Formats: sequence, C-alpha cells, structure tokens
Amino acid sequence: MNLHEYEAKALLKEFGAPTANGHVATTPDEAAEAVKHLDTGTYVVKAQIHAGGRGKGGGVKLVKTVDEIRSEADRMLGMTLVTPQTGPEGRLVRKVYVEEGSPIARELYLSMLVDRADGRVAFVASTEGGMDIETVAAETPEKILTFSVDPASGLQPFHGRKVAAALKLEGDLAKQCGKLIAALYKLFLAKDCSLIEINPLVVTEDDQLRCLDAKMSFDDNALFRHKDIAELRDIHEEDPAEVEASKYDLSYVKLDGDIGCMVNGAGLAMSTMDIIKLYGREPANFLDVGGGATKEKVTEAFKIILSDENVKGILVNIFGGIMRCDVIAEGIIAAAKETNIGVPLVVRLEGTNVEKGKELLAGSGLDIIAADDLEDAAKKIVAAVEGK
Ligand code: ADP
Ligand code: MG
Repeated sequence: MNLHEYEAKALLKEFGAPTANGHVATTPDEAAEAVKHLDTGTYVVKAQIHAGGRGKGGGVKLVKTVDEIRSEADRMLGMTLVTPQTGPEGRLVRKVYVEEGSPIARELYLSMLVDRADGRVAFVASTEGGMDIETVAAETPEKILTFSVDPASGLQPFHGRKVAAALKLEGDLAKQCGKLIAALYKLFLAKDCSLIEINPLVVTEDDQLRCLDAKMSFDDNALFRHKDIAELRDIHEEDPAEVEASKYDLSYVKLDGDIGCMVNGAGLAMSTMDIIKLYGREPANFLDVGGGATKEKVTEAFKIILSDENVKGILVNIFGGIMRCDVIAEGIIAAAKETNIGVPLVVRLEGTNVEKGKELLAGSGLDIIAADDLEDAAKKIVAAVEGK
C-alpha cells in the first residue's frame, strides 16, 4: 500500500524528520486558506497522486501570491495528470498540497527499502537528487551509495556518517543527516515500511536539510497491525478490477496479454502463465481464486476477467485437492451461464472427483473445450484464440 505525499510527510514529521509546513486542500478556496498557516514568501502547489514525476507533468508549481495558489489549485484539481509514471491514461487529481517554498541550494536523493537478497533494510543515497534514480544507476552508478543495516546491531552512528560523506554533507549538515537517518530507520521499522523515498532531499540556502518529496510504501501483510496506515488506503489510486477482486478475496493482477487465467493456488497460476507464454501468447492476468473457491468466487472471477477488453480467451486451470472437481465444475457452469462468456473457454480439471467434474461440464451444453493436462490446455486455448 502507498501513501500520498502529504500523508507521508505527516509521518516523517511525527518521527522527527525535517519537512516544510503545508496543508492539503480539496478546493481552490481551501488551498488559498492554507497561506494563513504558512510562513514564507513563496509557495508550492503540488498535485496529490501516488505516481511520481509530477513536476514534469505540470503537477508541481512554485508561486508567490494567494491568487496564484488559487488559480493553480483550480487548474490541478479535477485534472487528469499524466506523468512518466502514470501511463498515458494519467490519474485524476482530487487533492492538492500547498507547501512553503524552500530555497534550494542542492537536491539529493535518499531512500530506504528491504533488500530481498540479504533480508535487511537498505539505504540508497546519491548526490543526484530530483532525477530518476534508475537513470543515475544506469549512467553514473559510481554516484550511488548502497548499504544495508545488520538487524542484530541495528543502526549505528557510522551509518549516518557514511550517508553524509556520500552526500558531501559536512559540519552541522552531517549532524542533521545523522539525525535524519536515525528518524527514517525508526519510522521504517515501526510502521513496517517496504519503501521510503525522499527525492529530492534538499539542502536549503540557510544550510538546513529538508525532505521535499516523500514516497512511502508499506508491507501489505503487516497492515493488520497498523490500522492508522490501513485507513489511509486510497482506492482511487488502485486498479478498479484489483479493488473489486480484493473484496472477494481473490488475488488478481492485471497484465497486458489476451488470455485470461483462472487458477487455484499461486504456484499453479505462475506455471499456467509460463506455459501460455511457452506456446506463444501472453496472459491477461494473474488470478488465484484460492483454496476454497466457491461458486460465487468463480462467478466473480469470470466477471473480473471479462471486464478486461483485451481478453480473447479464458483458461481455467483447477487442481482439486481440498476442493472437489465436481463442485468446481458446478461453479464454472453457473458462472458461465450468469456472465455470458463470449470468448473461447478451455477448462482443465485434475484431482478429487475429476471424472464427475468432467461429466458435468460435458453435459452442461456449454461451449467448453475440455483439456487433459496443463500442456494440452495451453495449446488448446492458444489455438482457439488464434482461430485454428
Ligand atoms: P515529483 O517527484 O512528483 O516530480 P517533487 O515533489 O519531487 O515531485 O517536486 C519536483 C521538483 O519541484 C523538486 O525536485 C523541486 O525542485 C521542486 N519542489 C518541490 N517542492 C518544493 C518546495 N516545497 N519548494 C521548492 N521547490 C520545490
Ligand atoms: Mg520527487
């Protein structure tokens, strides 16, 4: 789960990381009102969407007067902001953040994430702030410092000094850097973060370190113990089909291909996607209906798959271990009747009561292509989609 910049900054503040003052607004009047609480001659109006690169898309504007705040807020609110990270469809802007302008001397990069290779919390720091870190990594990797923290000894003062040296921060700024690193590490652990990215972290003209942008992601599996964070979930920022799927406890991820997959078990779902690719086409989605797939769940899964306009065929691949194949077959038949599937449907069933399941499908009068095993199923759906 991700947060908006203004929410992430509230957390940064709570843990003692330096941020500028700001107020979130949903109307131009509210945005103008924010000035009363800000103490600078310049302001920044920032569109609140989860994707980055807002500056490039016109979603970050530096202004000087209340009238300009109002007109920029008016322009941004309700606009579909397209940035290099949103894809061509963009995102609707529902909130803006009005913040004190910072006199920037240098823009730096700082982030933290879980290094999956060594299972530790890692820091990434670079003097090249405000840019895509991927570009910096590709073109000038020597300008990036990466290290991870041993969880047994925890964060040590030398970690802070290491980051300060990499960011070329000296004297009091190095001290501020040490404090910031400690605050971020505490926040990262306390809230079960998976990513905190401050890009840019700036040095102001009066030598203050400040978090100017903030991206924060959390481990979904730990959200149950962070109700405060879970409440901040913004479903407008998520794929509508994925939101719908989560209501029915289905694990669904939309992909770019044209063969819809309905599978039970994540491992089987992965191998189903692999074998579709092996036979020359691309899966339209990852979908795990779980171990206890009911008729309702199967119906919902069909609806979600069919809501994707790219889908030209569906492959159902179910292994009845705990589930019985005849129950699954009944679910498929009911769902097929209810959702009016207009594309080829290949079904491969295996496991408990498989014969009974196959009989039900054969006698259903539905246009179902039965398959014997995974390979047969993949070949059949690819052939059906290609009209062979
Ligand atoms: P994004 O990464 O989505 O483009 P940022 O918050 O990083 O958005 O803003 C883009 C750029 O706008 C920053 O690199 C910085 O130069 C400038 N900027 C952002 N916030 C402020 C601020 N409070 N004061 C001055 N400049 C700012
Ligand atoms: Mg940024």
